[in-house]
Amino acid sequence: MKAAILKNQQLIETRPLQLGEFPKPKPQPDEVLIRVSACGVCRTDLHIIEGDLPVTHFPLVPGHQIVGKIVESGSSCVRFKIGDRIGIPWLRKVCGTCPYCVNGRENLCDSSQYTGYHANGGYAEFATVPEDFAYPIPENLTDEQAAPLLCAGIIGYRAFKKSSSHLGGKLGIFGFGSSAHIIIQIALHKEREVFVISRGEKHRKLAEELGARWVGRSAELLPVKLDSAIVFAPAGEVVPAALKSVDKGGTVVLAGIHLTDIPALSYEEHLFHEKKLVSVESNTRQDGNELFQEAAGIKLIPYTTSFPLSEANEALIKLKQDEITGTAVLKIQ
Ligand SMILES: [Zn+2]
Ligand SMILES: [Zn+2]
Repeated sequence: MKAAILKNQQLIETRPLQLGEFPKPKPQPDEVLIRVSACGVCRTDLHIIEGDLPVTHFPLVPGHQIVGKIVESGSSCVRFKIGDRIGIPWLRKVCGTCPYCVNGRENLCDSSQYTGYHANGGYAEFATVPEDFAYPIPENLTDEQAAPLLCAGIIGYRAFKKSSSHLGGKLGIFGFGSSAHIIIQIALHKEREVFVISRGEKHRKLAEELGARWVGRSAELLPVKLDSAIVFAPAGEVVPAALKSVDKGGTVVLAGIHLTDIPALSYEEHLFHEKKLVSVESNTRQDGNELFQEAAGIKLIPYTTSFPLSEANEALIKLKQDEITGTAVLKIQ
């Protein structure tokens, strides 16, 4: 099969993904094999490719927001049938027995595995997933629209839950890329007032279009104190500003898997008055199921820009340069 293959970690500008032939994966007994239709491009792919996250095996096929139809099932699979349209997400496997797994916190499992990282992903014509970790895709979404929900959507949704934002609450969003443009749609549907801080003019325009109450370049310009904030930007220097922007008792959620160092904080200015700073690690399947329920019930439409598989490097370069509005999606077939 054709795949975009990573042989070693390098800056994306050197175009490290090589389009070539790669062995078609065989599903294990508990796995299904899909013919990939679309695969969303995630900032985590960039972190994996560029070496911000350690990789244990090469060659690696990245990609963990994968949509396609099942073409083969492992011998013990019972959940889906051939031809079903499913999504393959970031969270691929957990042990099921550790204290985190048995207490409903499988996102913290010590032995968790991730698609496009521990196992090959969806920058390819075929991909596998343990059937228990796949999601059926709601009919109201195209393959291309569904792909960004599989990581950007699910992780953003977990971040939204962690923000403890309440009905009518003022929610700040710092950084307005793939995840943020999905979560604003859910937050508005749930009657939050959303304030967006982004340096990118294109991103601010999209935030306005989607219905943000206020959009600006800098948190210092915010017209009100926020009840909570989610930081999607991978930049640690945003964190003090986000903490200052929330009111007493407010929560700031860090949604990224990788963040540059956070500058020194002042206790009085940034944390006192019972402010909370919370990170998000991956997600549980419960988060994913809830997100897809939301997506089936409301008109949740991710904005996508598609690229052919042969332009995976270009899609990632554009993502790095902040030139993608919404989510970049590789159209495989
Ligand atoms: Zn576990
Ligand atoms: Zn991701």
